[in-house]
Amino acid sequence: MTNPIAMPHVLPSYLKADQLGPWGVYLQQVDRVTPYLGELAKWVETLKRPKRVLIVDVPIHMDDGSVAHFEGYRVQHNTSRGPGKGGVRFHQDVTLSEVMALSAWMSIKNAAVNVPYGGAKGGIRVDPKQLSRGELERMTRRYTSEIGIIIGPSKDIPAPDVNTNEQIMAWMMDTYSMNEGATATGVVTGKPVGLGGSLGRRDATGRGVFTVGVEAARHIGMDVSQARLAVQGFGNVGGVAARLFAEAGARVVAVQDHGGSIYQEAGLDVPTLLAHVARHGSVAGFEGAEVIVNDAFWDVDCDILIPAALEQQINESNAKRIKARMIIEGANGPTTPQADDILHERNVLVLPDVIANAGGVTVSYFEWVQDFSSFFWTEDEINARLVKIMREAFAGVWQVASDNKVSLRTATFIVACKRILHARDLRGLYP
Ligand code: GLU
Repeated sequence: MTNPIAMPHVLPSYLKADQLGPWGVYLQQVDRVTPYLGELAKWVETLKRPKRVLIVDVPIHMDDGSVAHFEGYRVQHNTSRGPGKGGVRFHQDVTLSEVMALSAWMSIKNAAVNVPYGGAKGGIRVDPKQLSRGELERMTRRYTSEIGIIIGPSKDIPAPDVNTNEQIMAWMMDTYSMNEGATATGVVTGKPVGLGGSLGRRDATGRGVFTVGVEAARHIGMDVSQARLAVQGFGNVGGVAARLFAEAGARVVAVQDHGGSIYQEAGLDVPTLLAHVARHGSVAGFEGAEVIVNDAFWDVDCDILIPAALEQQINESNAKRIKARMIIEGANGPTTPQADDILHERNVLVLPDVIANAGGVTVSYFEWVQDFSSFFWTEDEINARLVKIMREAFAGVWQVASDNKVSLRTATFIVACKRILHARDLRGLYP
C-alpha cells in the first residue's frame, strides 16, 4: 500500500506550468492576473510558492496484523492574512501537486470572501473505502499527530473535504487535544454539533453555490424557477445545491456520480434521490430515471451545470459540447484553463470555485469564532450571515469583472490577490 511520492520537488525549475498538474493550473491563473495587480505585482512571487510543505509517513496496524504505510500531506500556502485554513481529503489519487494547488485556491477563496485566514490543505493518498472503521480511525489519528507540529487553532485549521466528514474531524480534534493536554475545539472545523461544531455547516457549501447561482442568474436575466440543472457529484455540495435549486422550482434533469449517470427530462425527484444516495452510496440503481453513459452527461440540454466532484472534469474535449448558459463550480478546480477559454468564447458564464464554493469555509469561520467565544448562534443567524457575505463578495467580483472586462475567475483572483499582497506589503519582510 506504499505509494511513491508523486512530486518530490516543490518547484523544479525545469518543469513548465503545463507539466505541473493542478499546481501548474494555479500558476497559469496567477500569471493571468498579474497585469492587474499594479504596484502589488512586486510581491507576486509570494503567491507562486507555498509557505510551508509537510510530507508525512502514516504507518498503521491493519486489522489483519500487517502494517501499512500511507503518504500524507499538509501544505500551508499563505498565512499573510491569518492562520492557514482548508480541508483534508482522503483519496487514492491525491498528489502533492494537487494539495499545493488546493491550498493556494484556499488562500484565494478566503481572501475573496474576506475571512481572516490564509490558505492550507491536507490529504492522504488512500482509498478510504478499502479501510475498516478501525483502520480509518487509526490512520486519521496518526496523520493528525504527524501534522500536529504545524496545525493549531491559531496556526492552521483543517476541515472536511472529499471523503472526510464530521466523525473524522472529531477524531482529529481529539488526537490534537490529547497531544496538547487540553481540549482544543478550534483546531478543526466541520465537527459534529455536539462537539463544538456549527449549525448550518453541513449545508453551507451547497447553500453558497445556490446563493451565487441565484445572484448571477439575476444579472443575466435567467429565471431560476424555470431552469434545468445538471449536477456532477451528489454529496455534501452537489446534493445540497440540487435540493435548494429544486425547492426554488428548478428541474434537476441529470446527475452523475461515481456510480454512473442518470437523466430525467421532467426533473428528478431530488429528496427521493438524496435518500437513495444516503442508503446505497451512489445514484446507481435509482428507479424513475434513465441511465445514460457517463460521457453523454456533458451533452445534456440544461441551463445550469454544477460540477461538484473532482478537479479537471471540464476540459478541451467536453467544453465545446456543454449546453448550459451558466456553470457553478461547486468542486475545486473542475475546469482546465483551456476549457475556461473555450467557455468564455462561447459566452458560457463560469462562476469560479474560489467564490462559488466559499460558503463552506465561511461557515467554518463562524464555527471557529463560536468555539473561541464558547457562544453558539442559531441556524437562522448563521444562514443569514452566510448569504450576506456571499452576496456582497459576489457583487464585488461582478463589478471588478465588468470594470476590467475579464472573466469572473480573473476578477475573483484580482480581488483576492490584492488583499493577500496588500497584507504582505504591510507586514514587510522579516528580518
Ligand atoms: N474543504 C472545503 C473547501 O474546499 C472547506 C474548507 C474549510 O472549511 O476550511 O472549501
